[in-house]
Amino acid sequence: MGKAMEMVSGLIADSGKESNRGVPAFIHRPDLVRKVAILAESARYDVSCSSSGSKAVRQGATLGAPAHSGICHSWAADGRCISLLKILYTNVCEYNCAYCVNRGDNDLPRTTFTVGQLVDLTLNFYRRNYIEGLFLSSAVCRNPDWTMERMVRVAEDLRRVHGFGGYIHLKVIPGSAPELIQRAGLAADRLSVNIELPSEASLRSLAPQKTRDGVLLPMLRISEMIGEATQDRRRLPARTANGPVFAPAGQTTQLIVGASPEPDRQILRLAEALYGRFGLKRVYYSGYVPVSRDNRLPALSGPPLLREHRLYQADWLLRYYGFQSAELFDDQHEWLDEQLDPKAAWALRHPDLFPVEVNRAPLEQLLRIPGIGVRSARRIIAARRFGPLHPEDLKKLGVVMKRARFFVTAGGKFWQSETWNPARAETVLRGLEKRGAPRMKQLSFW
Ligand code: SF4
Repeated sequence: MGKAMEMVSGLIADSGKESNRGVPAFIHRPDLVRKVAILAESARYDVSCSSSGSKAVRQGATLGAPAHSGICHSWAADGRCISLLKILYTNVCEYNCAYCVNRGDNDLPRTTFTVGQLVDLTLNFYRRNYIEGLFLSSAVCRNPDWTMERMVRVAEDLRRVHGFGGYIHLKVIPGSAPELIQRAGLAADRLSVNIELPSEASLRSLAPQKTRDGVLLPMLRISEMIGEATQDRRRLPARTANGPVFAPAGQTTQLIVGASPEPDRQILRLAEALYGRFGLKRVYYSGYVPVSRDNRLPALSGPPLLREHRLYQADWLLRYYGFQSAELFDDQHEWLDEQLDPKAAWALRHPDLFPVEVNRAPLEQLLRIPGIGVRSARRIIAARRFGPLHPEDLKKLGVVMKRARFFVTAGGKFWQSETWNPARAETVLRGLEKRGAPRMKQLSFW
């Protein structure tokens, strides 16, 4: 049974108890229970939700807050609680994107909530501590505005009628009117527009009803509206500066990896441009899950999870380690090496930059050493103010020596009997990756 269905069953069970007279009547209606089952299942392939980092306190909210709860809203197969009601408003779709289980041509049960049903469901799950917020996406029923308007009303009713202060993530349907995007941002913590495919050519081939501009334009609007709201708040006197906010947890997007032929270089260049131009909080990479039969799609036996993992690592390098995507690739290396993490692969292609002396290197240089993360780099900088570091100090500062030992010296000395030998480093690091390789398996969201 899917988790959303378990939650519905919990509500039904609670309704029999003396102390739970408030359980809504709708939950006894089998048609609505069926809707939850269908629309929660239909939402499972959207990965663009996670902790928001939102600290916004909604004025007038009387129920819930997004700040402390963490917003990974689902249940993973390993038992971790990630409490999000992740659901579609409708899975009736006018479009026919080849990679999507909800495409119009697929023969599957279809249904649509009403605004009131979804609001009731969210509130009841929330009050029972089943969820900490709502991630609402949708297929395109009738047209983008029809669908988006209903999704926005769900968020507005939750906020304004019911004083809901919990986390809301709304998916923006490309092609929606700017007024609807504006309303969505005033009600939701986070907005996202899924770019889905990395090039115009792939969109034309696999999602012919979508265009690159149709996706990028709402992203641009959202980033402008976030910027304007921030400026407006800065202009307000401090006492009134907690007026309405626009998407305080920012915007994200999702890119499907492996359904189209673009190499990693192109994917990361696009992600970098999206971070730079639209101030995206996150780009999510979703390994294509072969759910549809279509001769335009590659024949994969399963989702390319290792590739997805490497893209997330490289994305991390762009956001926190000062790398640019162009540094990770060249004409001979358009794909990330699946057997090496991207930082180690970069370091091994630049032997002239190593070894690095940790007593002298600036933060930016320390961050480029495999085995040294942001925290350990900062600790090195702080610790060396008190005296020179020795190789044996590095482990205590959080440096992962099984990786870093090839690339660093402290006081001119390598750790243990190591020497600078890039070929040996590569052999050992590839071996480490093989031994430590996680057994890649798609997590169940339900
Ligand atoms: S618009 Fe495309 S990706 Fe979205 S639900 Fe419809 S078919 Fe799927």
